[in-house]
Amino acid sequence: MNEAELLFTDILNCSRPSLYLDKDTPLDKAQSYFVSGVLKRRIKGEPIQYILGKAEFMGLEFKLAPDVLIPRPETEILVEKTIEMARSPEVAARSILDIGTGSGCIAVSLAKNLPGVEITAVDICEKAIKIARRNALLNNVKINFLKSDLFDNRQLKADNYGIIVSNPPYIPAAEIDALQPEIKYEPRLALDGGKDGLDFYRRIINSAHLYLKENGLLIMEIGFNQKEAVKNIFKVCGYFEIIDEVKDYNNIDRIVIAKKRERTNG
Ligand code: GLN
Repeated sequence: MNEAELLFTDILNCSRPSLYLDKDTPLDKAQSYFVSGVLKRRIKGEPIQYILGKAEFMGLEFKLAPDVLIPRPETEILVEKTIEMARSPEVAARSILDIGTGSGCIAVSLAKNLPGVEITAVDICEKAIKIARRNALLNNVKINFLKSDLFDNRQLKADNYGIIVSNPPYIPAAEIDALQPEIKYEPRLALDGGKDGLDFYRRIINSAHLYLKENGLLIMEIGFNQKEAVKNIFKVCGYFEIIDEVKDYNNIDRIVIAKKRERTNG
């Protein structure tokens, strides 16, 4: 849905088609007042998803607050690819770990599409975990949420996960302020990937093999122009073989999939 559709389906509590079918119905006073309030905030740059407190992702509804990133359409590709790999006979994942879950959009969508698979989701931010828990409840799925700085929580099990998935913060710190004004409303913690944007790839890649099962997969979203650098981190780490790369709707490299293997040098 575009932004106008999001706003009007919300205030009229109707579906997208009925918005067009009933387009001649006037708004009542309270509704017009609400719309002008929303527009005032939107004009200042606040994303519509924060104003309405919700977003749609993978056809599901997610509650949002400024403590969590707004789910992006590109991330649906990450989820779809993860579902496909989890179902493949070679992986047949029984346990998946989502690192930096934020709103929980990845973990909840996986749980919804992969019944019987145990999903664990971690985030360093307590407030994000609270929102993610709410979204799991809203969408009727069971997820094991843990507060953890990446792999730091001792409850994470070694050699356990068939897949580790992550959309980590990946924007180079100095570039964040130059992005569109909407980004300033989002949590810096969820965007800032350090000086070159790659800090979290270094940390995740160098620990993930300890938590993955033999032949387990690490599936990550990457930022613009980061593919070669991320592949190089995998190469230096030595515990992985890249098995797939996926582009997004704009033909930008967006996902890297690596399989755990015995360590080799270079
Ligand atoms: N895709 C987001 C953006 O470009 C960034 C999300 C992230 O850092 N993981 O705004």
